Amino acid sequence: MLHNKQYDVVIVGGSYSGLAAGMALGRALRNVLIIDSVNPCNKQTPHSHNFLTNDGKSPKEIVTLAKDQVQMYETIELLDALLVGGIKTESGFEVQIETGETFSTKKLVFATGIKDIMPEIPGFAECWGISVLHCPYCHGYEVRHQKTGILANGETAFELSPLISNWTNDLTLYTNGKSTLTMQQVEKLQKHNINIVETVIEQLEQQNGYIENIIFKDGRKAPVKALYARLPFIQHSSIPEVLGCEITTEGYIKIDESQRTTITGIYACGDSTTRMRTVANAVSMGTTTGLMVNKELIEENF
Ligand SMILES: Cc1cc2nc3c(=O)[nH]c(=O)nc-3n(C[C@H](O)[C@H](O)[C@H](O)COP(=O)(O)OP(=O)(O)OC[C@H]3O[C@@H](n4cnc5c(N)ncnc54)[C@H](O)[C@@H]3O)c2cc1C
Repeated sequence: MLHNKQYDVVIVGGSYSGLAAGMALGRALRNVLIIDSVNPCNKQTPHSHNFLTNDGKSPKEIVTLAKDQVQMYETIELLDALLVGGIKTESGFEVQIETGETFSTKKLVFATGIKDIMPEIPGFAECWGISVLHCPYCHGYEVRHQKTGILANGETAFELSPLISNWTNDLTLYTNGKSTLTMQQVEKLQKHNINIVETVIEQLEQQNGYIENIIFKDGRKAPVKALYARLPFIQHSSIPEVLGCEITTEGYIKIDESQRTTITGIYACGDSTTRMRTVANAVSMGTTTGLMVNKELIEENF
């Protein structure tokens, strides 16, 4: 029974970042519990790209292999559960999962990721990660040179348009309502043959997540093969904030160069801490976290 066991480290989130931290700590002989609610942000994506040695594999394949490798280390335990609470104690922290079970730990790592907030456009959520895309470096190559849209307005639209134009010349910006771009910005986009459509969107017509048409409120439609969007987000877990970890104005857990949050003994890594949202970066930050947590544990006892 896991209950009441004292761990060196509890890692919350057992996706790429949490598992990378776990591997480093397992190799450092630390007793680690990884608690994961198995709800990663990219779960709907059929193929994950741009992660060396695993390019094109499904997110599940990558994470299953990672879990198998991490569990080879006998001091690592993996628990499928949702963390619902945590408090500071004299020796570290006590955390609680939804069944009421609690676990004590010297250090805490949050690798809990973020939750994208879908717009209320029917069809959008079904296409997310399949043909409605967050990042051209992850999925742009697969839809290169195709009829592509960007769903954005204002500064975000002006930032995304040049970026996405790297992958296709057939690009339209859908502002879904009156454009808030400046005249200068509009002129620059038009100079690069990027059309701007302000008509309000009714829904996305799609088959199994593959977008076919944008349907507008006025009844017209526009065919597209891919649509890019940058969504607002919230922290996947509110517990870091409840424990006092500072959140940046952008909405990320504030960390230093050693992945330490603003609360002593709590570390964070992966999407919950950075805009640089890739599997490779999540793994890199996780590995660094594992090393830094172990270093702190050594320094406290040596
Ligand atoms: C649609 C989409 C497609 C993407 N495609 C690519 C791609 O092709 N290539 C690429 O490099 N990157 C891609 N990314 C980015 C990549 O998926 C993320 O950077 C990466 O998943 C971040 O890893 P993470 O471990 O920080 O967070 P996540 O993978 O989101 O995992 C967080 C984990 O924490 C768990 N968790 C959260 N709260 C709790 C709690 N309270 N208790 C227990 N567990 C909890 C969740 O269940 C989840 O398992 C994509 C992202 C999205 C959204």
